[in-house]
Amino acid sequence: MANKGLLLCVCQGNCPSFQKMNIFEVGNAIRRDRLIDYMAIHPQLCSKDGDVFLTSLLKGNSTDELYIGACDPTMQTKMFRDAFEAAGFDMDHLHAVEIRNMDTEQTVAAIEKVIKGE
Ligand code: SF4
Repeated sequence: MANKGLLLCVCQGNCPSFQKMNIFEVGNAIRRDRLIDYMAIHPQLCSKDGDVFLTSLLKGNSTDELYIGACDPTMQTKMFRDAFEAAGFDMDHLHAVEIRNMDTEQTVAAIEKVIKGE
């Protein structure tokens, strides 16, 4: 069974695009549904320490599929490339999910849809 991780990032919690959701409840709902093996919230994944976090998390770790709920998926792919490369994690196993301008329920649904491959 594939090991699945979920990371959530909402621009330090003060960006207007993420004000309608409760990010803790988003993670909790998906956790409760047992769709992932671990989840974490990071304040700013595209920052320098975000890179360090991603590389540290994925290096030698057993994550098979990584889901990231955050900003635009194309942006995510560009911003996280170096950190993934440093960790030896294949970009094809990143599932970037756009969660901007959604409420809690919509965010949970958007992420769960991608995890379930619907
Ligand atoms: S990764 Fe995206 S959502 Fe997270 S802080 Fe950077 S721009 Fe904002």
